Amino acid sequence: MTDRIADFLRTRRPEGPCLVVDLDVVRDNFLAFRRAMPDTRVFYAVKANPAPEVLKALAELGSCFDCASVQEIEMALEAGATPDRISFGNTIKKERDVARAFALGINMFSVDCEAEVEKIARAAPGTRVFCRILCDGAGAEWPLSRKFGCEPEMAVDVLEHAHRVGLDAYGVSFHVGSQQGNTGAWDGALASAAKLFRELAERGVTLRMVNLGGGFPAKYLKDVPGVPSYGRAILDSVHRHFGNRLPETIIEPGRGMVGSAGVIKAEVVLISRKQAGDDVRWVYLDIGKFGGLAETMDEAIRYPIRTLRGDDETAPCIIAGPTCDSADVLYEKTPYALPLSLEIGDEVLIEGTGAYTTTYSAVAFNGFPPLKAYVI
Ligand SMILES: *Cc1c(COP(=O)(O)O)cnc(C)c1O
Repeated sequence: MTDRIADFLRTRRPEGPCLVVDLDVVRDNFLAFRRAMPDTRVFYAVKANPAPEVLKALAELGSCFDCASVQEIEMALEAGATPDRISFGNTIKKERDVARAFALGINMFSVDCEAEVEKIARAAPGTRVFCRILCDGAGAEWPLSRKFGCEPEMAVDVLEHAHRVGLDAYGVSFHVGSQQGNTGAWDGALASAAKLFRELAERGVTLRMVNLGGGFPAKYLKDVPGVPSYGRAILDSVHRHFGNRLPETIIEPGRGMVGSAGVIKAEVVLISRKQAGDDVRWVYLDIGKFGGLAETMDEAIRYPIRTLRGDDETAPCIIAGPTCDSADVLYEKTPYALPLSLEIGDEVLIEGTGAYTTTYSAVAFNGFPPLKAYVI
């Protein structure tokens, strides 16, 4: 929680649940990535928070953008990024969207199979492609599973195929899983990437780029290593596996860029117990899984929650959202300790909510409006 956000909430007193994002924190986070990995280009993962003010601030600092759709590409262009600073990083694209991106000047696409290579060869001839390889996501609190990427052995064929059909086989990408707490998580995938570089070189194809993806954590309840530790561990692995033939590198931070920049202000709607004498209270907020806190699914992401009741004595609570869906419970397996003095109508601050909240909020489930955001 920054002073600017606290001032904003105190003076503007916005009605209803809302996210407040402090652009100074976003800028500091960008500069921290650049300092930790000075020779690595930063492609901000737009999906984490596509607010125009966030994109514009990052574009001004020289950030590039990882986009998942034509709409995100248009937003990055609108924010001032030139097409050479934008990648179409989704491995699942309609061919007509590839054509639209190509018409907008986009020259870098991700693939993870030959069918996707074919689409790009037809709709965006001659452009750069990188192949995403599978990564098990161990150590991540929000793993990205097997949906994206292929086995490294197959990536060799995919990239050779891209080369044969006239595309520029540019490199390899992977994602170690979001909210990755282990700074060493990149090492295994980098070993695979280096092997891929060698195997393709034997087939006459020279790869040049490794896309290290996202995964850099935001601080929630648990402490996490800082960006410099990640930078050191990753650059160490790059040197170990590539020796003195270093590839170009890029990172795609989403959560690590904006997570810590936002705070959600919410309100206690109801406090109740299921029977007289229960020690656990149910605390219902005016925001839940459908209002932007979707990442509380399986209690994967545990946001710090603060009340304005200081050091009052606390007791465990189950925290739930306001909608008529029983899935709309945020934390039950691991209850949160909240003050016994907490009352209906109290303000509650949910910290570290700058990433993956506004975009995950439903349009009008139960008539609740989408999460409002103020970028200051
Ligand atoms: C979502 C995503 C990211 C951002 O991941 P974080 O863990 O939020 O940093 C980066 N790259 C790709 C391809 C993604 O899909």
